[in-house]
Amino acid sequence: MYVICHYAEIGLKGKNRKFFEEKLIENLKKSLVGLSCRKVQRISGRILIELDEKAKESKIKEALKNVFGVAHFSFAVSCEQEIEAIKKKSAEFLKSKKFETFRIETKRSEKDFPLTSQEVNEKVGEYILENLKVQNAKLGVDLKNPDITCFIEIVEKYVFLYLEKIKGQGGLPIGVSGKAISLLSGGIDSPVASFYGMRRGIRMVFLHFHTQEPEKIQSIQKQNSIEKTKKIIRTLNKYQFSSKFYLIPFLNIQKGIFQKTNPELGCILCRRFMFRIAEVLAEKEKAEALITGENIGQVASQTLVNIRVTEEAVNIPVLRPLIGMDKKDIIDKAKEIETFDTSILAEEFYCHEFLAKHPETKANLEKVKEEEKKLDVEKLIKEAIKKAKVEII
Ligand code: ATP
Ligand code: MG
Repeated sequence: MYVICHYAEIGLKGKNRKFFEEKLIENLKKSLVGLSCRKVQRISGRILIELDEKAKESKIKEALKNVFGVAHFSFAVSCEQEIEAIKKKSAEFLKSKKFETFRIETKRSEKDFPLTSQEVNEKVGEYILENLKVQNAKLGVDLKNPDITCFIEIVEKYVFLYLEKIKGQGGLPIGVSGKAISLLSGGIDSPVASFYGMRRGIRMVFLHFHTQEPEKIQSIQKQNSIEKTKKIIRTLNKYQFSSKFYLIPFLNIQKGIFQKTNPELGCILCRRFMFRIAEVLAEKEKAEALITGENIGQVASQTLVNIRVTEEAVNIPVLRPLIGMDKKDIIDKAKEIETFDTSILAEEFYCHEFLAKHPETKANLEKVKEEEKKLDVEKLIKEAIKKAKVEII
């Protein structure tokens, strides 16, 4: 038994293609550890996985559904590359299946094979009609809307037969697009943003700012935001296998901001600090961008004006994969990737206590910079980074 993985080939040329395929194979191998797969190899335009007898289809299916770069995959049987063998194998393969109408769909990539795809379709179709009619009186060919399609792929020295194309995640293999720092809050949006970044081949380094003060943990943190974030990362690890996680204390910075500056600008100032710290870590990690779960809305930090004022604090690009999504779509996706239930666990970010009743929705950059002068920005950042904790999850 085999699994054939197909990837979208658009835009894959020369060196890019080789890099893509090597990463995809590496990631497939990681995802299949312990699932009785013998070999993972490239054959022209596909990745071929050889399964052991012990291999469990359901487990492999589950694993492959999380590997970015796979457009679709199929569990396949194989036979000798010779038309009589193909006919017999197809009949044998379809014999145990329940159907009345069928279609054969051949793809011949091996141009040395003497028959065209259409000729294979016709010969195999005829053979099946002749041989399976006895047990299935209503048997017939239907090219438009058959009960069952038998796909035949003739590629290199192989012939594969399969009935189902299982949809994969699509996207690009993790790692082909470099690294980014993902600002993970523990809320609903940022895990979904991370998912979309990972889906385009970006390896995430996660970063969470926490506001816990040991003696206040009980009263303030209904649910420890650190544990919550870690749980989310463990869930997202099904896409990137293991993750680096930075945990940065933020309470001092927040206190400084709310004690010394105009509370209406508190949110923006906090976010400028978060971005600056993330930028320092990006440098350290050789990451190319920051990723946030921001969206365009009318709430304090997420108006277009405020996004501009926040981003002005850094030079690194800030990617916001959720920019075009409605909240409902984000929630649906969070459920699908299984981060939702953790994200909605009760939690309070300490800054809620100080939050202005009417945070500025149209911050003025000059005013923000004026307020910031009241703080020792460099020192606060250095201190926070010094206290950073790093973990591999
Ligand atoms: P989320 O659902 O991701 O928490 P949100 O809609 O609650 O987002 P904000 O709280 O304004 O919006 O946060 C916007 C983004 O800023 C988050 O998606 C995340 O990327 C980042 N962020 C906010 N708080 C933190 C934090 N404590 N640690 C790390 N990143 C954070
Ligand atoms: Mg939030």
